[in-house]
Order: sequence, then structure tokens, then C-alpha cells
Amino acid sequence: MKFSQSGKDSSRSQIDFINEYQTELSAYLAGQADEEALLRAYELGRQGAARQLGILDLSEIHQAAMQAAAGIDVPTREGRQIETIIARSTEFFSQVLATFDMMYRGYGETIAQLQSLNAALNQHSHALQRSEERLRLFIWHTPAAVAILDKDLRYLQYSARWLSDYRLGDRDLTGLSHYEVFPEIPPHWREIFQRCLEGAVNKCEEAQFLRADGSADYVRWEIHPWYTDHQEVGGLIMFTEVITDRKNQERKIVRLSRIRGIMSAINAAIIRIADRSVLIREICRIAVEHGQFRMAWLGYAEHGTTAFTSVASVQRVGASSSVAVSPADIPDASGLVARAIKSGKTILCNNIAHDRRISHKEEYLKRGYHSLVMLPLFALEQPAGVLTLCAGEHNFFDQEEMKLLREIADDISFAFDHLAKEEKINYLAYYDALTDLPNRALFFDRLQRHIEVARRDAQLLVVILIDFDRFSNINDSYGRHVGDALLKEAARRMKNRVASENTLSHVGADRFALLLTNVVSAADAAHILERLLEDCYGPAFQLDSDEQYVSVKAGIAMFPSDGSEYDAIYKNAEIALRKAKKSDEAYLFYRPGMNASVAKRLTLENRLYRALEREEFTLYYQPKILAATGRIVGMESLLRWNEPHSGVVQPSAFIPILEETGMILPVGQWIMERAIADYRHWSDRGLTPLPIAVNVSVIQLRQRNFIDMLKKIHGSIPEGAHILDLEITESMLMEDIEQNIKKLQAAREMGMKIAIDDFGTGYSSLSYLTRLPIDLLKIDRSFILGMNESASGLAIVSSIISLAHSIEMQVVAEGVEEEDQRKLLKLLSCDQLQGYLYSKPLPVNEMEALLH
Ligand code: C2E
Ligand code: CA
Ligand code: CA
Repeated sequence: MKFSQSGKDSSRSQIDFINEYQTELSAYLAGQADEEALLRAYELGRQGAARQLGILDLSEIHQAAMQAAAGIDVPTREGRQIETIIARSTEFFSQVLATFDMMYRGYGETIAQLQSLNAALNQHSHALQRSEERLRLFIWHTPAAVAILDKDLRYLQYSARWLSDYRLGDRDLTGLSHYEVFPEIPPHWREIFQRCLEGAVNKCEEAQFLRADGSADYVRWEIHPWYTDHQEVGGLIMFTEVITDRKNQERKIVRLSRIRGIMSAINAAIIRIADRSVLIREICRIAVEHGQFRMAWLGYAEHGTTAFTSVASVQRVGASSSVAVSPADIPDASGLVARAIKSGKTILCNNIAHDRRISHKEEYLKRGYHSLVMLPLFALEQPAGVLTLCAGEHNFFDQEEMKLLREIADDISFAFDHLAKEEKINYLAYYDALTDLPNRALFFDRLQRHIEVARRDAQLLVVILIDFDRFSNINDSYGRHVGDALLKEAARRMKNRVASENTLSHVGADRFALLLTNVVSAADAAHILERLLEDCYGPAFQLDSDEQYVSVKAGIAMFPSDGSEYDAIYKNAEIALRKAKKSDEAYLFYRPGMNASVAKRLTLENRLYRALEREEFTLYYQPKILAATGRIVGMESLLRWNEPHSGVVQPSAFIPILEETGMILPVGQWIMERAIADYRHWSDRGLTPLPIAVNVSVIQLRQRNFIDMLKKIHGSIPEGAHILDLEITESMLMEDIEQNIKKLQAAREMGMKIAIDDFGTGYSSLSYLTRLPIDLLKIDRSFILGMNESASGLAIVSSIISLAHSIEMQVVAEGVEEEDQRKLLKLLSCDQLQGYLYSKPLPVNEMEALLH
């Protein structure tokens, strides 16, 4: 055996040393020793348990063991010493090592010696089996992962920590091969083990250890050979220490310095970038590219709302690149963003999978987000958005990190605050502080831009100036503040009435300007203005304690008729306003002719409004003839207006007005009811009336309740009777094709036949035509006229007819006036004919005669 006596301590007797050691040790173990004694005890241990054991004369132990085995009385004193030392050493190690860091150096040797000693003792003495048990306990309780293997790498002994560090549960490893315990061990370990078995010591300060569940730990390991009595390698002693926590700590430091990096990059961006949207995008980019976040999302909304006016979002893709994800990708499936804004408090979630606040976890987990933080941002002392950061790990955000992130949020808030203040200054330059409306400069700006668009799209623009009558009187008699309040209230009323695409501005003291962009005619503009004036200036205003009615005047100028540039149009509106102020009219157009035609048109409208209730409408009927036999197979109803002043008015003069004003809806319904009533009238008189095709306006068809209306009317028709068919102009049908298909389908299910009117004048796509539920095509009169004039005219009609037949539709020719046309159409297999050749549209009684 190789236990050597320490030269330095040779002057002291063994007993002295043992006594001293024991005294210190027991004081320490009894908890009575101060730190110095503790350190002394530690120092003894540090110099190596081997040396502690080395002071014993092994021949003595050997002798004692032999004697014990032979049943001879062991000298009590010596025997106790041995046991005490071993016992104390065991305790010593478990205590000291638990308190201090584990000491590897010399430790391997110690264990080997203990092992050999144990073997030696064990060979000879039952009495010493107890020490083997202690040794086993010592190793078992060692607060380090230790394993002692034999030459074949089978486990002899191991510590509990070995089992727990390697998650081996309470398996009994004794006798198992290391390869059985770690079947996944990489092949290069065989070489390491081999070298150690040849006497080498191997160690590694940091190695990754992949666990079966895919998670990784970091370990530090050391492998020593141990020797038998015969100086041969008996096997290996392995020590390992899981250092994941320390590694994480190191990584956290790296990460925190990264965050400091983001902080300075963001601050640089704040100084450099003046545009909020650009800044927001840059912040997200920095957070993802420099901050190692999986995703960064930043939404800016004013006044603590979630109506984000600027949003950016950047997601990590692969190792370093990042892409902007759609701003619509707001990570607010659970309303957390709204909550962060509302409360102004940070929301932190370090384990998304188990956080009850997050309702759509899959959305996050799918993208690999496991932790997230939402930092509220502020501007002008109000919540103004949220910065959301997502990380790929659990527990990503700790206190230190949060502290730095809050600082970043403060910096961003500072930038937002600054930008908001700047915007406020800009706002004052373009908005009127009293009414909050755009001012004259902004009005001109918008007018100019709209003119460009209108010029390109050949659209109409209308500028209306509205000015108070005798506003100075109000200021003089009530004071300026009342005048201001009046303007404010007038602005408020008008703002509520004006459609969002139109611009209302406060352009001067008591003058407002309104730009209309969506008007179809001067009459349309007059309507809008009349309604605006009635709603806003009809009700009285509260002036101080008085209720007062105030009146305004308006001047109107239009693009392009009254000028091609914004200043000319505006000036002409001013001229019109001036004239209006001098006249009795509430408003005037710039061009006198316009006033006359608008007035005429408005009179017509007014008369039309009354026409329905005064029963001035009537229906005429024109028969449809079957080309093959010449028999009447149906009729078309055509609207007429018996205007008391000017007699029968043709539909082309008033149907567009009915459509523009929406009057076509009640009138259209009346037409169907009238047609059914006329039909019944005929059948009551014993006639066999024919189905009536009514013309349906696009305005009617567009109504969401069109089908309901049809059903209601259809309800009055006896079961099975076929009274109504529909005619719809081609160009209208393509407007909202999907909806129209549904509506027409429903009409068909009620037994109505559907005809496309004026076919050839629209722009039907053939593919749509086949999808539409259509029974008949009515070829427009212009083609019938052209048929006799040229070969190509004939070819068109011929191909329309064969096209219609190929998709199983019937064809009606409109406006057939001549015998030649009839013959040709018959030759071309046109199904039905309609026109003056047979009959003009007839009033009910004349149609009745025809039916006879
Ligand atoms: P439309 O639906 O194409 O009606 C055919 C028009 O051609 C009718 O004009 C009819 O009088 C006229 N016509 C018929 N045969 C001949 C002919 O041989 N030669 C000539 N030159 N003309 C012929 P009307 O009645 O003036 O109607 C004009 C348009 O007004 C109709 O065209 C239709 O679009 C619309 N309309 C008429 N009644 C109604 C109605 O009740 N509701 C709706 N929404 N629109 C209607
Ligand atoms: Ca028609
Ligand atoms: Ca037609």
C-alpha cells in the first residue's frame, strides 16, 4: 500500500495530530467552532483525507483487523481510533463538501485509497464491514455526482446525486455497465474511457449534455483511474457537476449587455428619425436583430385607445435575418394589448403555455414564443401604444432585464411625446383651434389635390361657401365669446352631417367651406346643401340665455364648369355667395344658367314626389309576339307619367330622377302591384291574360331586401299563376354579380322568368352570362336597326341569337318596326319579337281590346 507519512508533520506524534484534528472537527461539527476553526478544519480536509489516513501505520490496522477476525481482543484504544477516524472522515467530507465547493484534486485518490483500504479491511475482518458500509454511505451522500466503476465500466458505487443529476430515478445501477445506463452516449466516449483505463486522467471544464427529452444541460467532468493493491488500474472514478445554472447566468450577462446594445441603438434611432412610422419600424428591427427577441411588435394609438395609427412588427426568421410581419398580426388574441394600454401597466408572461391570461396560446406557441412582455408607452402623459416583445425561451424576462426594458420603454415614450408635441404645432398650422376644423390653407391643399384626381377621372367637384347673415350683429350685441360659441356649435352640427369623404373647413371669420367630391349633378349638390342647411340651421342656437334662429347664405361653384384651378373655383364661389347675400335666395350657383336648370329640375322633383300619391303614374303594355306563329305570348309593362301641366311624360325624362332621388323604390313596388292588378282585371273579365314583364331598376335590385319585397308582392298571386317576369338592363347585372345571382335565383324560384334587357349595350362577360340565372336575352333596338344596314350588323344579331341558344336562352328582338326585320329575324330563329310593327305600348283598355 502506498500510504505515505507526511514529512512536515513527522515531528508531531500521530496521537497529537489525531487529537488536534478530532478536537477541531468535533467543535466544528458540534457547531461551536467559529469561522477560523472552521477554516482550519477545512484546511485539514483540503490537504487531503489521504494524508489524514496516511498518518496511520497500516500495519497496525492490518494487525488489528487480523486480530479482530481471529476473535482476539483488539487493543481498545487503537481499535476505536481507527473507527473514529474513518467515521469522522466520512462526516467531515459530507459536511465540508456540502458547505464548500467540491474539491476534486486529491479526492479521486482518496476514494481509491478508501476503496483499497476498504478492500483490505474487508478481506480480513467482519468487524470492518461496518466501515465498508460507512464508505458506501459516504459516497452515497457525497453532494457531488460521483460514480466508481470497475474495469469493465460496471458500477461499483455511486452517489445519490449521480442518480438525480442524470435523472435515473431510484434505479439500482450496481453491476450495470455504464453503456447500459447511458445507451445514447456518443461513441467518442469509448476512447476517453480507454485512455483513463490506461492510466490517464481526463477532464473537461464545460460540455453539453443532451437529455433524452431534448433539453440540454451543461456539465463539468473529471475521470480518474483508481488502483488496486497491485498497482493496477481497478476501474474509473467519475465526477461530474451540472453547471447549467452558472452557464445560464453567464448567458444572461451576455443578454443584458445585448439589451444595453439595443438601448443605445434605439436611442440613436430616436435622435436620427423624425417620422413616427419609420421610427417604430426601426425599433422593432433593432429589438429583433440586436436583442435576440423572436418577435417585436409596436403599435401607436393616441388617447389610450387601440385604434393604432402606426403599427410595425418584425419577426425573427432563421439565425439573423428578419422580416416585417403584417401589422394586422397584432398579438392581441387575448386582449392583452388593450389591457396594457388601458392600465398603463406592464404585462409580463414568462410561460405562455401555462398562462391563463392568454386565451389563444397556440397562436404564440406555433410561432415558437414562450415568454412575452407588453410594455405600455406614453405620449403627452397619456397611454399611447404598446411595445410587445416575444422570446423563444421560458422565463426569459427576469428582474434585471425588465429594469432595462422599462428604461427602453421610457426612451420610446420620450420620443413619442416629442413627436406628439411637434404634431400639435403642425396641427395648429393646418387646423382652426376654435372649431377643430381644417383651416383655409388645408382646404386649398385638399381642393387642389381633389382637382387633380377629378380631372383624371372626369369627375364633378363642388365648392360651397357658407356664411352667416349679419354675424357682426351677434358679436356686437352678445360679445365675441358668444359669437365664438355660435361658430363652434355651427361647426359641430355641420361636422356631424357631412360625409367623411367631403371636407368641411373653417375658412374665415364666420365662413365655412364645404368640398363635395361624390356628387353626380348640380341638383344633387343643391339637395345636399338644402338638407345640410335645414338640419344645421333649422334648429335654434343658444346665444347666452336666448334661443335664436340664425340664417346663413351659400354660394356654389363647380369643377370643371366654373374654373379649372382651385383659386378660380374658390373665387367664383365667393362671387356666388355675394350675389346670394344680396338676393332672397338661400344659395346661388356661380353660373346663372345653372340656377335656372337646377330650379327647373328641383320643380320637376317636387312634382314627381307628389305624382305617386296623386296617382299620376300609369302602366302601358306592349305585346311580345312568338316569331314562329305570330301569336302574342307576353307583354312588357312601360311606365308613363300623366303630368297635369304637360301631359304624358316619357320615362326617359323622369326615370333617371326617380332613380337619383330613390323614389324609384316606392314607384317600382307600385309598378309590380299595378301590373298584377291589371292582370287580374283582365282575367276577371274572362280574358286569358299573358305574363307581364316589368322593368326593374338597378336601384331596386341593389336593395338588400329586394327579395323580401318580391316575396311580399308575389304573396298576392294565386298559387301556380305565372303573372310577373323581370327585365333587368345588362350593364347593371355585372355590378355585384354574386349577390345578383342569388337574388335572381330567388326570383326564379318564385316562377318568374328573367330577361336581360338592352343586350349588347352593356359589357357582359360571357363567362358570367352562363352563370347568371337568365331565361331571355332582349337584343337592343340599335342592333335591330343596324341589321338591315350592313353585313356586319346582321352578323352581330345572328351571333347573339346563336350564342343565346347555345346557352339555352331565348331571344327577344326589341323595336321591330319593319316587315323586312321580322322576316330576317325569323330566318335567324329569333324566338320573340316586340315593336311598333305589331303594336305600340298601349294603355290598359286598349291592351284589353287586343287580348280579345
Ligand atoms: P326598355 O325597357 O328598353 O323599353 C323599350 C322601349 O322601347 C320603350 O320605351 C318602348 O316604348 C320602346 N319601343 C318599343 N317598340 C319600339 C319600336 O318599335 N320603335 C321604337 N323607336 N321604340 C320602341 P319607353 O316606354 O319610352 O321606355 C324607355 C325606357 O324607360 C325603357 O326601355 C326602360 O328602360 C325604362 N322604363 C320604362 N318603364 C319602366 C318601368 O316601369 N320601370 C323601370 N325601371 N324602367 C322603365
Ligand atoms: Ca324593358
Ligand atoms: Ca330595351
